[in-house]
Amino acid sequence: MDKKQLFTPGPTEVPQETLLESAKPVIHHRKQVFKELFRETTENLKYVFASEKSDVHILSSTGTGAMEAAVLNFTSPGDSAAVIVSGKFGERWRDLCKSFDVNAEIIEYEWGDYCKPDDVRKVIKEKNIKAVFATLVETSTGTVNPIRELAEVTSQAGVLLVVDAVSGLGCDRLEMDKWDVDVVVSGSQKALMTPPGLGFVCVNSKAKDALQENKRKNYYWNLKKSQKSLGKMQTPYTSPVNLIKGLNNSLKMIISEGMEAVWGRHQKLSGGAQAGIEEMGLEIFSKSPAAGLTAVKIPSPDKIGESFTKHCEKKYGVVLAGGQAHLKGKIFRIAHMGYYDEMDVVKSLAAIEATLNDLGERNVLGCGVKAALEKFSGR
Ligand code: PMP
Repeated sequence: MDKKQLFTPGPTEVPQETLLESAKPVIHHRKQVFKELFRETTENLKYVFASEKSDVHILSSTGTGAMEAAVLNFTSPGDSAAVIVSGKFGERWRDLCKSFDVNAEIIEYEWGDYCKPDDVRKVIKEKNIKAVFATLVETSTGTVNPIRELAEVTSQAGVLLVVDAVSGLGCDRLEMDKWDVDVVVSGSQKALMTPPGLGFVCVNSKAKDALQENKRKNYYWNLKKSQKSLGKMQTPYTSPVNLIKGLNNSLKMIISEGMEAVWGRHQKLSGGAQAGIEEMGLEIFSKSPAAGLTAVKIPSPDKIGESFTKHCEKKYGVVLAGGQAHLKGKIFRIAHMGYYDEMDVVKSLAAIEATLNDLGERNVLGCGVKAALEKFSGR
C-alpha cells in the first residue's frame, strides 16, 4: 500500500474539507459572489495575523513572491536595510535585497542560532537603515526568532520591520498590532493548511505611509495598485479564486479553534516531539526550537546521511524533510505545523525509531513514543 503523510515544513497536510472547497465551481473574480468571499477571507486572515488595522494583500504566488513584493514595495534603489541571516531564508532576504539594489547590512549568525535584537539596534544606530528584514521561523534550521523584542527596537528607531512568517504564521505566536510589526509576509502551504500557491503581505499603517513614498515602478508586484483594488474587495488581476475558497475554509477552522488554542497546540506538539527525540538520544539542532517544526541532528551522518529520510518515507510513508545546503544529510526536520495533532507526532516518532533500528543505528523502539505520550499527558 502506498500511503503517505507529509511531515515536511511546507507543503503540509491539508484538511479534506479545504480540498473539497477548492474543488467547487470557479466563480468570476469581478462579481459580487467573489467580493463576499474576498471580504470574509481577508477579515479571517487579519485574525491570524493578529491585526485589525492592517491591509492584507493576497497574491497569486508562493511565499518568495510575497517576499519579493515586500522588498520592491518597501525599499527604493539605494536604500540600506539590515538583513538578519541565520539560514536559507534569511539568505533569501539578502539575495532579494541585492537583486533590487538595496544595500544589505548583513547581521549574521551561525545556522541554528537566533537573532539578538541588540545587534540590530547597533546597526540601526550606525547606518542609515530604512528597513529590517527578519524571519519569524527559519525553516532550514527549525529556529524561532524573537520578533517581539526586535519590534521594540524597530519601533523605537522608527524603522520598518518586515518579517517573513511563511513558516510560523498560525503556529508560532506572532501578534502584529500588539508588537508593532510593520509588514508580515506569508504563504498558504504551511500552518494555514491550504495547498501552495497563495502569498500574503500584511501591511500596517506605518508601512502604508512608506508604500506611498516608494519610488519603484514595478508593475505586477505593485501594492499601491493592490491597495486600490482592496477598497473594491478585489485583486488587480484575475484572482486565484479556488485557492481562496479553500483558504477561507482552513481559516474558519483556525478561528473556531481560537488563536491562543492554536498556538498552545503547536507548543504542545513541539514539546512532545522534542521530548521524544531527546529520549532516543538524538540532538535537537536549533538553539531556539520553533513550535511548528523540530530539526534533529542525524546520528552517524557519514553512515546514514540522506538515506534516513528516504528510508522513513519508503518503508513507513512518513515524509520528513532533510537538511538544506550544507546541512544536507546532517539533519532531518519533522513538521507539526497546521493540520497536526498529538497522534501525528507520535506516528512520526515511531517511524523515526523504526528507521534508526532498520538502518542499524540504534534500537530505541518505543522510547521516543513513550516520552512524547508522557509529555502530552502532562505527567
Ligand atoms: N520563507 C520561509 C521561512 C520558508 O520556509 C519558505 C518555504 N520553505 C519560504 C520563505 C519560501 O516560500 P515558497 O517556497 O513558498 O516560495
